[in-house]
This record gives sequence, structure tokens and C-alpha cells, in this order.
Amino acid sequence: SASFSSGTNRPVYGKVGRVPVGIGRRRMRVVVTGGAGFVGSHLVDKLIARGDEVIVLDNFFTGRKDNLVHLFGNPMFELIRHDVVEPILLEVDQIYHLACPASPVHYKYNPVKTIISFAITNVMGTLNMLGLAKRVGARFLLTSTSEVYGDPLQHPQKETYWGNVNPIGERSCYDEGKRTAETLAMDYHRGAGVEVRIARIFNTYGPHMCLDDGRVVSNFVAQAIRKLPMTVYGDGKQTRSFQYVSDLVDGLVALMDGEHIGPFNLGNPGEFTMLELSEVVKETIDPSATIEFRPNTADDPHMRKPDISKAKELLNWEPKISLREGLPLMVGDFRQRILNEDEGKGA
Ligand code: NAD
Ligand code: UDP
Ligand code: UDP
Repeated sequence: SASFSSGTNRPVYGKVGRVPVGIGRRRMRVVVTGGAGFVGSHLVDKLIARGDEVIVLDNFFTGRKDNLVHLFGNPMFELIRHDVVEPILLEVDQIYHLACPASPVHYKYNPVKTIISFAITNVMGTLNMLGLAKRVGARFLLTSTSEVYGDPLQHPQKETYWGNVNPIGERSCYDEGKRTAETLAMDYHRGAGVEVRIARIFNTYGPHMCLDDGRVVSNFVAQAIRKLPMTVYGDGKQTRSFQYVSDLVDGLVALMDGEHIGPFNLGNPGEFTMLELSEVVKETIDPSATIEFRPNTADDPHMRKPDISKAKELLNWEPKISLREGLPLMVGDFRQRILNEDEGKGA
């Protein structure tokens, strides 16, 4: 019978018949759930570039085929339309579990459907991927979030902090969904010996971000391109730390291939108020851009900044790209997509 390697250097037998790639590393077969989304599509590019075989599972809830279209026809790549809430049988070495309805916009328009979708995806989806990992002996990585810290009373946030989440708040479905997914991962690790990895991702931006999912960087960039005022919520003095997507993807791969379970904060410690962010967008895209104040959402965290000493020490990872360097790298992609959208509407 087949046994599947979960480390980089173990021999692999059986059905898959992997071939060695370079010295000391075998070709991996890797699943990326949510691989048609923003972060997933960049991760898939990196894995394919280093010679892995990649299977993407995505239900296209917020993801788009366009993000992966350049890989169609590549024999090392496979895209399966699949909802992770349903079980699936695959033979793989590693599972990057990103699938999650991530967009804050959906909270407001259809809160009941959104919470059901969050709860089911984070519980059933994570359970299925952990069950798969257990069956085939694959390593499992969860993309959790800085939102597990809630409106933090510790600043910056360390992984040892248990968080300050309001269980009955407007955004709780996201926070609590991810907290549950972390719990399930650790339960499968302790109870079934599954090799797990947990990343707590802080606000990330870059090309392929959803245009209209309501996150602050995509909102400001799209608004500046469309010559609309940038919408600053509240007094704009709340802070966030913004990470460029290639830094995150490097961190995820270092975590998956390394020997530490985590959780690890993956984020850029550079901290900005929303007003400062609007200034950077203005400098980058349009010096005549303006801002407009809007009421803030309830329970909005006042500040957020990762303490990344653990990832620096144990994963030898730290972000390389500052906000001022990273923002210009997403503008071309946004301009093109906004142009396509406008042309689509005009037709
Ligand atoms: P995204 O919305 O672009 O990607 C999520 C992907 O999951 C989409 O392609 C979507 O279609 C897919 N998906 C959703 N539900 C699914 C289901 N039931 N079955 C199969 N596929 C499903 O979001 P992203 O920013 O790329 O986020 C990726 C992961 O990183 C998510 O788990 C998110 O919670 C986490 N994260 C992201 C950030 C960030 O700033 N981008 C911060 C913290 C955590
Ligand atoms: N699962 C899956 N693919 C697999 C193995 C399991 O989708 O290759 C699903 C399975 O359907 C179940 C979940 O993962 O719903 C948890 O599996 P596990 O074996 O841990 O639990 P059990 O099936 O014993 O309840
Ligand atoms: N925000 C804003 N204008 C927008 C969208 C968001 O000022 O158009 C603020 C929001 O209130 C929050 C911060 O930007 O304080 C980050 O919001 P986002 O939804 O991007 O991420 P998260 O709250 O999950 O960190």
C-alpha cells in the first residue's frame, strides 16, 4: 500500500511515484484550498515555480479563475471546483487550507447566510481537510488570522496572547470561526498525530485582491483610481500593519516546510493609521485624491501590529517589502481590472 511523505526528505512509495527535484528535495503533491483567491493564487505560483505538483480546490465564492488562468494546460497544475464542506479523496503530501469566505462586505448584506457560511466552512471544511491529512499522512497548514486577537489589550500582539474577542459581536463569525479552526487543528494534532502548522496572518495586500470586498487597501486603491474620495471609517486613527503578499507567501512556505507547529504571526510590523494609509495611496496613485469620513463598524479593533520575533527566530523569516514599496506593485493590476470592468459595463 502507499505511504505518503509528510517531510521533505522521507522516501515516498506507492501510487504517486514522485521524482526527485534538485538535491535533497522530492517533488511534493500539494493541495491548496482557496487557491483561486488572492493569497492562494500567489502561493500556487510559488509552489509551481519550485517544481511542486499543485491541486487547487475552490468553490469560486470570492476566488476567480482569472487568477490562475496562466497555469491552465500546465501538467503540474489541476483546478477542481469543489466546496470543502463536502468530503474529498485525494493522495497528497501537504495541504494548505486557505478556503474561507473572507470578505467583510458579506457581513453587512446577508449576516445570517454569512455566519452560516463562515461557521460551516471553518468547521466542516477544516474538519474534512484534517480528516484527509490524517488518512494520507499529509502535513496540514491552517491560514488563521490576527482577528483571533479581537480588539487586543496587548500591543503588539504575541502568539501567547489569547485575545479579546466579543463572542456576540457583528464580526464574531469570522473571529470565532478561525478560533474554532485552530482548535480543531490542535485536536487532530494531539489526538490523531496529524502534523499541523498554524499561521496567524495580519492584513495583507497585493495584486489579485478582490476589487470590492471592502478591505481598506483595496477600497482606497480602487477609489483613488476611480477618482472617488477614499472612505475613512471613524476618525481614521485606528492602526493596522500591512504586509505585501509575496512576503506572506514566503512565510507560509517556510512554516509548512519547517519543523514548528506555531501558531506564528505572519505580518509586517510597520504600523499605520488609516489616515496615514490614505496619504501613502495619495502619493502613490493620485496627488489630488481626497478623503471622506464614514461611521465605523462596531467592535473595530483600535490597533493591530504583529510581534514577529517568534517567526524571525524559528522560521528565519521576516517581511522585506515596505508599504511604500508594495503599494505601487498592485496598482497596475487594479487599473487593468477596473478598466475591464468599466468596458464591460459600457458594452
Ligand atoms: P480570498 O477571498 O481571496 O480567498 C479565499 C478563497 O477561498 C476564495 O478563492 C474562495 O472562493 C475560496 N472559498 C471560500 N469558501 C470556500 C469553500 N467552502 N470551498 C472551497 N473554496 C472556498 O481571501 P484571501 O485574502 O486570499 O484569504 C486567504 C486565507 O487567508 C483565508 O483563510 C483568510 O481568512 C486568510 N487571511 C487573509 C488575510 C488577508 O489580509 N488577506 C488576513 C488574515 C487571514
Ligand atoms: N475526510 C475527507 N477525505 C478523506 C478523509 C476524511 O474528506 O480522505 C473527511 C471525512 O468525510 C470526515 C472528516 O474528513 O467528515 C473527518 O474525518 P475523520 O476520519 O477524522 O473522522 P470520521 O470520518 O472518523 O468521523
Ligand atoms: N476601513 C476604512 N475605510 C474603508 C475600509 C476599511 O477606514 O473603506 C478601516 C476599517 O474600519 C478598519 C481598517 O480600515 O479599521 C481595516 O479594515 P479591513 O476591513 O481592511 O481589515 P480588518 O478590519 O479585518 O483589519
